[in-house]
Amino acid sequence: MGLFSRKEKYIRLNPNRSVKGKVDRELPEVPDALFAKCPACKAAIYRKDLGLAKICPACSYNFRISAQERLMLTVDEGSFEELFTGFETTDPLTFPYYQEKLAAAKAQTGLDEAVLTGRAKIGGQETALAIMDSNFIMASMGSVVGEKITCLFEFATQEKLPVVLFTASGGARMQEGILSLMQMAKISAAVKRHSNAGLFYLTILTDPTTGGVTASFAMEGDIILAEPQALIGFAGRRVIEATVRETLPDDFQKAEFLQEHGFVDAIVERMDLPTRIGRLLHIHGGGN
Ligand SMILES: [Zn+2]
Repeated sequence: MGLFSRKEKYIRLNPNRSVKGKVDRELPEVPDALFAKCPACKAAIYRKDLGLAKICPACSYNFRISAQERLMLTVDEGSFEELFTGFETTDPLTFPYYQEKLAAAKAQTGLDEAVLTGRAKIGGQETALAIMDSNFIMASMGSVVGEKITCLFEFATQEKLPVVLFTASGGARMQEGILSLMQMAKISAAVKRHSNAGLFYLTILTDPTTGGVTASFAMEGDIILAEPQALIGFAGRRVIEATVRETLPDDFQKAEFLQEHGFVDAIVERMDLPTRIGRLLHIHGGGN
């Protein structure tokens, strides 16, 4: 056995944890790098060239953006009213370092959980709106994410509003175990009640939309849009390859592949989304 046990080694190597496992100092401040590597075409892009919408000038890949940036790019100015805040994320399994991870995600994103919910106007049309933020524990779906989205659908049903939902997620939140998986059924039931009331539900799949989110509310929209080259899937590529023992095509689980196979209705450039969403809300009887 070495100088440290395995656990001690891990703790010592992680600069944010003391031996007792508590966050004992802030993350070091690193200035934004001048260049970003495009995950799609691997080109090194001068950050300023990405523009406000953060789109790769070489291949049009839409970089991941925060919920606040999405809000700024999408809704009519000054129209957003945040709803369903103040839910407390619990730690039912006392999962190691979950509390620390949550605290760090809250501090980094300024959000109370991985989804921002409220009402807003898009293209002049009133709608209920949810935006998932992959910077918050990869927008994994815990109890609070599930509760906020469910509340939003119940609110929209009551107020006779459509729902616009930007999805982004790594899937269920493993730190909350089975409670996380239950959110799929809870949200889906609320989506169904909203649908039974004759109301419109639009999903926009952004990079990455995977796991339990894809397996439930992301694919339940009346119309499903996606951003160019977004990763959309259920299980990971390696897991599928190992299961079916076949090499999958390069564009497998990309938005374009899904559109070809009928899972996505249209791929829309980020800057065109507000107009397209506004028009769809208008056609499908959105509020005003
Ligand atoms: Zn690119």
